Parts: sequence; structure tokens; C-alpha cells
Amino acid sequence: MSTVQHYHLILTMLPLIKLQNVYKAYMNGQIIQPVLHDISLEINAGEFVAIVGPSGNGKSTLLNLLAGIDKPSQGQVHVCGSALHKLKEEQLSVWRGANIGIVFQFFQLLPSLSLLQNILLPMDFVAKKPRRERLERARYLLELVGLTDQAQQLPSQVSGGQQQRAAIARALANDPQLIVADEPTGNLDAETADTVFELFLKLNQQGKTLVMVTHNETLAESASRRITIHSGRIYDDQIIARSDYVFE
Ligand code: ADP
Repeated sequence: MSTVQHYHLILTMLPLIKLQNVYKAYMNGQIIQPVLHDISLEINAGEFVAIVGPSGNGKSTLLNLLAGIDKPSQGQVHVCGSALHKLKEEQLSVWRGANIGIVFQFFQLLPSLSLLQNILLPMDFVAKKPRRERLERARYLLELVGLTDQAQQLPSQVSGGQQQRAAIARALANDPQLIVADEPTGNLDAETADTVFELFLKLNQQGKTLVMVTHNETLAESASRRITIHSGRIYDDQIIARSDYVFE
């Protein structure tokens, strides 16, 4: 076995996400507000993790730490082979572009760009693929999420569910191993939420690791693991048997 193969083997055996003794506090004026307390957690490649719990208890903060959107006050955060707690802002933004896809509750598409251009943007930012291949991939991703006919539309010209599906296509642009989502169905009606949620299941079935904060019970029940956060701590961490789930 070559050194590269050996290194690759070791990487695939390591957890995709590892948090060690993570603390996070925000400054609220002059007051220090502790939000996360001593979180240690491992998530392996291929898991579908739902982070649940009451509002204001630190779920989004935790997600932001493992997405490299925010940094811990103390402790270590390793994700996709990088020590995020050691990276500077600019390095973090490059790391995010290349390694993860992020889906937000309010879609966060750029309003002046078409859906197609919104998906091309992260590919242009990372510039891993030649330009012509980027266009091909953007069209493929729009097809994957069922938006081929809406490629040239602006976000404001399509429905909320379609915007969220475009945001998921954008999250897949650079083919990340890990997708994180913060309340991805929080702004959708039940029926539309179902189509988005089926898309997440399909992605997980295809091997993507998913970590999402959700209040949607259907989504949480379909995850392979449910982590409950309460008062900034892991209150419960359960593997869910999904053998009864029938995939197409
Ligand atoms: P949840 O996702 O469980 O609703 P959050 O992680 O959003 O909880 O927030 C937990 C606590 O941290 C809240 O009290 C919130 O006000 C505070 N908080 C979150 N983000 C910030 C921030 N950027 N600056 C200051 N306080 C914050």
C-alpha cells in the first residue's frame, strides 16, 4: 500500500466530525453568556444526525461550530480532517467552500442571480473544476432537485420549496462529504417540507453525511441519530434503528 493510500485509509477510519471539550460563550455587552458547556462528540461519515431540543439552548451555535461559521471559546473541533479551532477567518471560509454544504432556514439565495447562477457561485469561488464542467454540474444538480425548468428564474420568481431545493443544489455544488442544515424545513408548509425532506434522505442514502437542527418531527424521526441539546449540553444521544424505512 502506498503512503497516500495508507493516509486515505486512516482518514476514512477517523470520525468525520470530532468535538473535544468544546465551550462557547458570547459577550452580551459586558456580560459573558455561556452557551455550550463541555461538548464532546463524534460523528462518522454516512450518519444522518438530527440535533433537537428547545429553542435558545445552543443547537444553532453547535451547528455553526461544526460548519466553521463560528469558533469555539475553548476546546477542539476537527471536521473533514481539519482542525477548525486553529484556522483564521479567511482560511475557514476557503475550508467551508471546499468541504461542506450549508442549508439555511431562509434559503439565503442571492436575489439578483438566477437559480443556475446561484449554484455556479460556490463552484467559481472554489474553482476546482474547469468553467465548462461547472455549468454542466450546475444543470445536473438542478435536475437532481427537480428544477430544470426554473434554471433561469430569480429566487423571487419561484416558491419557497423550490428556493430551498435550489439552496440544497447549491450546497452540493462542490460535492461536499458533509451537509449541515439549520431548520431547513422551518419556513415551508408541511407538504413542501416533505419533498425537501425526501431529498435529504436520498442524499444520505447516496452517502452524504447530514447534520441538521430541526423541529420537524418527521425529519428528526428519519435521522439515524438524534442528539438532544438542553442548556448547552448533550442531554441525550440516540442511534435510531431505521430498518423499517423503505427506500425506493
Ligand atoms: P437554539 O439553536 O437552540 O435556538 P442558539 O444556539 O441559536 O439556540 O442560541 C443559544 C443562545 O446563544 C441564545 O441565548 C442566543 O441568544 C445566544 N446567541 C446565539 N448566537 C449569538 C451571537 N452571535 N451573539 C450573542 N449571543 C448569541
